[in-house]
Amino acid sequence: MNLRDLLSTEEWLIDEAGFDNTRLNYHETLFTIGNGYLGTRGSLEEGTRGDLPATYIAGIFDHHDSTVVDLVNAPDWLPLSVWVDGEHLDVQRCKVLEHRRVLDLRQGLLYRLTRFEDSQGRRTRYESLRFASFDDHHICAIRARITPENHSSTIAVEAGIDGERYNLDRLPAYEGSPSFHPEIKWHKWAKSKHLDVVEATFEQDAIYLQMRTLDRDHHLAYASSLEVTTEETRRSKRLDYQEVTAQIEWQAAEGITYDVDKTVAIYTSRDVDRSRIKQVCIDALASARAQGAGSVLDAHLEAWAEKWRDCDIVIDGAPVPQQAVRYNIYQLLIAAAAHDDKVNIGANALTGERYKGHVFWDTEIYLLPFYIYTQPAAARALLLYRYHTLSGALENARMNGYQGAQYAWESADTGIEATPKWTADGTFRLWMSDEEFHITADVAYGILTYVTATDDWDFLADYGAEILVQTSRFWVSRLEDNQAENRLELRRVMGPDEFHEHVDNNAFTNRMAQWHLRKSAEALTWLKIERRSAFERLASRLSFEIEEIDLWLEMADRIYVPQDHTTGVIEQFDGYFGLEEIPIERWDENGMPAYPDGYHHFNCTDTTLIKQPDAVMLLYLLPDQFEDDVKRANYDFYEARTLHKSSLSPAIHSIMGIEVGDRTKAEQYFLRSALVDLTDNQGNTEHGAHSASAGGTWQCAVFGFGGFRVKNGQMTFKPWLPQGWRELRFQLRWRSAPLNVTIRPDSTTFRLDARPGQFEEIVVNGHTHQISSGEDVEISF
Ligand code: BGC
Repeated sequence: MNLRDLLSTEEWLIDEAGFDNTRLNYHETLFTIGNGYLGTRGSLEEGTRGDLPATYIAGIFDHHDSTVVDLVNAPDWLPLSVWVDGEHLDVQRCKVLEHRRVLDLRQGLLYRLTRFEDSQGRRTRYESLRFASFDDHHICAIRARITPENHSSTIAVEAGIDGERYNLDRLPAYEGSPSFHPEIKWHKWAKSKHLDVVEATFEQDAIYLQMRTLDRDHHLAYASSLEVTTEETRRSKRLDYQEVTAQIEWQAAEGITYDVDKTVAIYTSRDVDRSRIKQVCIDALASARAQGAGSVLDAHLEAWAEKWRDCDIVIDGAPVPQQAVRYNIYQLLIAAAAHDDKVNIGANALTGERYKGHVFWDTEIYLLPFYIYTQPAAARALLLYRYHTLSGALENARMNGYQGAQYAWESADTGIEATPKWTADGTFRLWMSDEEFHITADVAYGILTYVTATDDWDFLADYGAEILVQTSRFWVSRLEDNQAENRLELRRVMGPDEFHEHVDNNAFTNRMAQWHLRKSAEALTWLKIERRSAFERLASRLSFEIEEIDLWLEMADRIYVPQDHTTGVIEQFDGYFGLEEIPIERWDENGMPAYPDGYHHFNCTDTTLIKQPDAVMLLYLLPDQFEDDVKRANYDFYEARTLHKSSLSPAIHSIMGIEVGDRTKAEQYFLRSALVDLTDNQGNTEHGAHSASAGGTWQCAVFGFGGFRVKNGQMTFKPWLPQGWRELRFQLRWRSAPLNVTIRPDSTTFRLDARPGQFEEIVVNGHTHQISSGEDVEISF
């Protein structure tokens, strides 16, 4: 059977036709495969000049000689090369007669077909299919099919594990903005080293490589086998510096197709004790081989099918949005490790190292809703990571002279602040770790959103309450008393809009801190009444007095919340309205605003230009606290000043655009968010996929077009479909029961699949409806 025949129907496929070395790194990101445990970029198996191959394993961080702690570029399991009579088949040395790659979103498969013509005119067809098993996260596999089309020659296949890996660290500052040849641009970077060999050996019919990280001392074990469907073979093995390779060579006959299977097992000392790691890894490989490549693939496909059953969004009538939304969901599915609550999702998940695997507010504000409403176990694991890194947050506060717990703006394995202080070329100072305090309130926001949607009150009692106490203590110590005005303020901060640093009274941060203190008070009061013994244990452990709750409430009331009573526009921070107005007058080919002449990320401080929603973000997160006309006024005012220089920006503008009735722009913003990686509209996809934007895209579909909001603990909907969309279907998990929502231009159907007799009250366009389990309830507009 042709490998291509295994793929899903067209609408699930993302294609690359032809080889273009200027797009090489972009495609490596785009074609990342993964399973939450690891992610492997879509590099060509045989290697290419200018490529940036990488496998990242969740939780494997190291510091050693890097500027800040890095998500380690772990040993690469991909290498697989074909030699024809000693000539290496690769896309740069041979003539490429045909080259096509296809990512199958539904099945988590990357397919490739390349037809090579070498210097002797020999034509060889090479196909491959690769996946990181969704069923057994420790298993990865490549099936290659090699067909000598017009020759009979000696074919050799080499397959290795390459441990000689480095992370990109610093790029020296260059005058102007020179562009480097794509094949050498990574050579310009200083690299950091994190790995050293522990053992490189040949086992019976496998190769084995064990490396350790230099600072954190994580051990990484890889075992790999190589098999081919022909009897007459010569096998050999090679050991190079930090690389082990197996080779199979045979006499190939013209027109015959040979199947080659490379199977790899990967374990780290985070999974098993170091003393057993080699045996566990080799046994896992043996067991995968015993099952056979076909069964391993089948189990993988079954696991993917199950995921899509819960998470798919169907958009009927709009093929581009449909494909883009599924691509974003694919990214979210390969990012989450529901099995491991000590890891989280970095800004580029496991697809690239732009943000060094670090975790931002992206998790709680952009990613979490997807997991909460489609796979709550994964959401819980993400929040438990915050619990496990609470000690790091306590340490951050202590080091900065505050009480309680201050979550890191960028968090890695310990929760200790990991944000770099300078840009990669050392030119500009980054102030986020010093000033972007709102992250601490965002964590609380994530916890309470999760608890409301899932009814997982045990989570609140066992973990969330402790976080809320410690983070509230942080705000208590961080708030400054302005006695002259008789109010509490937060000075020298940075809101979500990172163009403006050292600002006072950022409306977003002040309001979120206020919300945080009030919600913590509610949660701790609940704990005291409903879970008395848990409350007492916590109180004695944290020396918590019930009077602290009163203090939180008093302080919350005294927090200054900037607002403009005449126009309704909230001043983003003290003095913002007095800044210079620089109009946005140019847009790039993707419709994204361009910097006005002479401006860049680091010199907009004295202008009203903003990077991403700030006041508008506040209106989004606290929808109940603002009237419609205030939302409209702020959206109109700030939208005109937003440059969207963060991929987090368009999704929120889309959702808020729908809410305030700016539908044309809302649709455009939705597409910018949904296509951020597919069209590379931020221009940096080569460094990693935009995970927050993927979560934001999901929110556009559900919170934007679906108009879904939780208000006073109840589900509310205000659906609207763009022109041409015939139907939008998604599923939400609400208090553990799935609610299926089908939106059409003039009606919406809800179906609750809960226990018989169970029902939910939902509000649709302001009217309350009762949805009983098992019944389709259609509401016409
Ligand atoms: C954005 C932040 C975001 C970070 C990581 C920055 O460019 O301004 O809001 O958290 O990227 O995605």
